[in-house]
Amino acid sequence: MSASPVWHPFWQHGLGEPIPMVARAQGAALFLEDGRRVIDGISSWWVTTHGHNHPRIMAAIREQTEKLDQVIFAGWTHEPAEQVARGLISMLPEELTRVFFSDSGSTCVEVALKMALGFWAHRGEPRHRILVLEHSYHGDTIGTMSVGERGVYNAAYGKLLFDVETIPFPTGVGTNTLAALEAACANHADGSHEGGPPAALIVEPLVLGAGGMLFYPPAVLTAMAEICRRHGVLLIADEVMTGFGRTGTMLACEQAGVVPDILCLAKGLTGGSMPLAVTVAQEPIFAAHWSTDRARTFYHSSSYTANPIACAAAVANLAIWREEPVQARIATLATRQQALMARLAPLPGVRAPRTCGTIAAFDVEATDGGYLSNLAPRLMNYFRDAGVLLRPLGNTVYVLPPYCIDETDLARIGDVIEEALATIKS
Ligand SMILES: *Cc1c(COP(=O)(O)O)cnc(C)c1O
Repeated sequence: MSASPVWHPFWQHGLGEPIPMVARAQGAALFLEDGRRVIDGISSWWVTTHGHNHPRIMAAIREQTEKLDQVIFAGWTHEPAEQVARGLISMLPEELTRVFFSDSGSTCVEVALKMALGFWAHRGEPRHRILVLEHSYHGDTIGTMSVGERGVYNAAYGKLLFDVETIPFPTGVGTNTLAALEAACANHADGSHEGGPPAALIVEPLVLGAGGMLFYPPAVLTAMAEICRRHGVLLIADEVMTGFGRTGTMLACEQAGVVPDILCLAKGLTGGSMPLAVTVAQEPIFAAHWSTDRARTFYHSSSYTANPIACAAAVANLAIWREEPVQARIATLATRQQALMARLAPLPGVRAPRTCGTIAAFDVEATDGGYLSNLAPRLMNYFRDAGVLLRPLGNTVYVLPPYCIDETDLARIGDVIEEALATIKS
């Protein structure tokens, strides 16, 4: 038993691995209490976009702390929230018009699901079926686990999760996925599906992150959106991880020319500095809740909805996107990531090397593949001891660094991966 009373997330304390104490961070590096420098190869779990402690974001936070710490957001507002909403609306496709705040990826997805169900309920044609993509991850609350892949991480709660219909993950050009989606949307027409028509399809656009950094082509997303549109099924895009440039473009949906009915953004919204999330809806979703009838209110809130300090961080982040060469940095990192994968691809044991924008991933040939693969903790420990923060998903190793990472640090990550593969055998 450890001396600290802290219970860590996604962490098996029983394995007795050390838990490093992080004292500060700068750019792509973490500095430990004992002075060691650790390269943050996973953007502190996919949140840090430009780099740790971006001076403009930190200054905006400091400035906001002098003015307003927190205020109720039900029926009250403040300038930082208004600026985030206006800033987002001007960056996003014009069909997306309404911004609802929450605090995390899980909550903004919960909100999206409730908006979709509310939309149908308030139109007087209630729908309850939710379609999901195989291997998806949308969060760790009961609702978001329900729309995600079932596995060891939610088996204990399985009986409480609500039923959804799973569309197979696209292989090749995605014919399997599109046929299944078409069938799921159409099979109610003759009354053969007792659940009636689906309310919504929820997808992670282009990259299924926690499912193992699985990529699928933009054309499949385009075709999925088209099927949804034709059948009047709402499309929810969970861009919690893919948003803010990870896949090369501000939104992954852009690459498919898709505008979702409901968009979820979180991790990169504050540049990774503060917890904040938004669910952005097209006008008909908002309009379905708009009424003089209080029963049609969108009943969702959390205490810290649109916290002003978090919003100030997001305002600074959006200004960075408008005023700094963020797109050029992303393009440079994307090129370097391709070079990294080209270097690692020929090594023994490396399977399915792949990149998507700033994300690079490969699978390690393992006899016990899967999320509980023994390889993952051994690799993670090796990386940690070598001064690199990487956290393999089962036998999938991925590098997802802040956009400011330089060539030296990225090359060092490559060196450490190479050493680890040579040292650790499955
Ligand atoms: C991380 C993630 C979430 C959950 O976000 P939290 O802030 O951890 O609750 C939801 N969807 C996707 C695609 C994610 O990657």
